[in-house]
Amino acid sequence: MRDSYLVFGQPLIEQPEIDEVLDCLKTAWLGTGPKSAEFERRIATYKGVPHAVALNSCTAGLHLACVVLDLKPGDEVITTPMTFCASINAIVHAGAQPVLADIDPITMNIDPASVLSAITPRTRAIMPVHFAGRACDMDALMAIARQHNLKVIEDCAHAIETEYKGQKAGTIGDLGVLSFYSTKNIVTGEGGMVLTRDEALAKRAKMMGLHGMSADAWKRFDDEGYMHYDVEEIGFKYNMMDLQAAIGMHQIERVEKWWRRRQMIWQRYMEALADLPLQLPAKWPDDERHGLHLFTVQVDKRRCGISRDDMLMSLHQQNIGAGVHYQAIPELRVYRERFGWNSDDYPNAKAIGKCTLSLPLSPKLSDEDADDVIAAVRSALT
Ligand SMILES: *Cc1c(COP(=O)(O)O)cnc(C)c1O
Repeated sequence: MRDSYLVFGQPLIEQPEIDEVLDCLKTAWLGTGPKSAEFERRIATYKGVPHAVALNSCTAGLHLACVVLDLKPGDEVITTPMTFCASINAIVHAGAQPVLADIDPITMNIDPASVLSAITPRTRAIMPVHFAGRACDMDALMAIARQHNLKVIEDCAHAIETEYKGQKAGTIGDLGVLSFYSTKNIVTGEGGMVLTRDEALAKRAKMMGLHGMSADAWKRFDDEGYMHYDVEEIGFKYNMMDLQAAIGMHQIERVEKWWRRRQMIWQRYMEALADLPLQLPAKWPDDERHGLHLFTVQVDKRRCGISRDDMLMSLHQQNIGAGVHYQAIPELRVYRERFGWNSDDYPNAKAIGKCTLSLPLSPKLSDEDADDVIAAVRSALT
């Protein structure tokens, strides 16, 4: 057994980020400024999208996306029960009503047929999540959106590198939102970014993310002298600091190298775990690119002899940190109480939420670390 604990989702921080953060500290420009702007440019270039707005989290970005689409009380947004609570909370904070559609049990992404049957006259938007980095069925979702005049907000927290039929995730719908939280594929500690092809939406997101103040209010303290500002709307405080962007602007430069590293670990897991009674991640179509954010296995007690929670405990005892992405949203108390949701109404999400487990898949893992994970999984099952 390994002697140190393998922490799940550890980021890889290297010298360029460290130097850039030091530069921030030395120049004493900590808040939103030139490094945030540079990080936005680099992400926009990587994603091939004209507008990117750096924020302090993906949650903030999902909320702002709902705000700039002018969702009103009573408006419904259809999303997936196989997501982090932040997706739901963002919709609620915008004053809208979240509505769940079940997932496809193979892709674990929102099922377009289920979306169709959740549509009502009050539906205004769909918020698909590219789960684990696998692209949602965007052709079907965009066709539904066109047919029913709905907006589409892509939750790309897992999908920095994801592509769907030649299009990059986050540039297909009206808005896409990335996360740079510490466990995501590239990190700023806390951080997020809104992507859009629509200049008006981008401008409004930028403004609403900084109190609703008139454009470029962050420049009001710079060396061109004091500038008066106006406040156009009641906004939020969601801007990214240069201290955060200093990390992200170098992380994005290595995103493809790290994707290839995770692909090797993924392949190693697929081969080494193939003979076990676990269900491994499903294959994806050749015209899609998987973001390889989460390597999820399904631990079915009837086939494996142990439950998912037993497996979690066993891995922990063998010094391997694992994750659960996710218990289905209706299993969480506040949503049951507030919206009357029952997980039985989303049987695919319910079943997967009870048996899914995510193995470490960080570019920081050495081959030995990956072999330790494999050995621990095998030992848990014997
Ligand atoms: C991590 C995550 C979020 C929230 O991201 P933050 O940057 O931590 O706010 C939202 N949706 C999904 C699917 C996530 O995994």
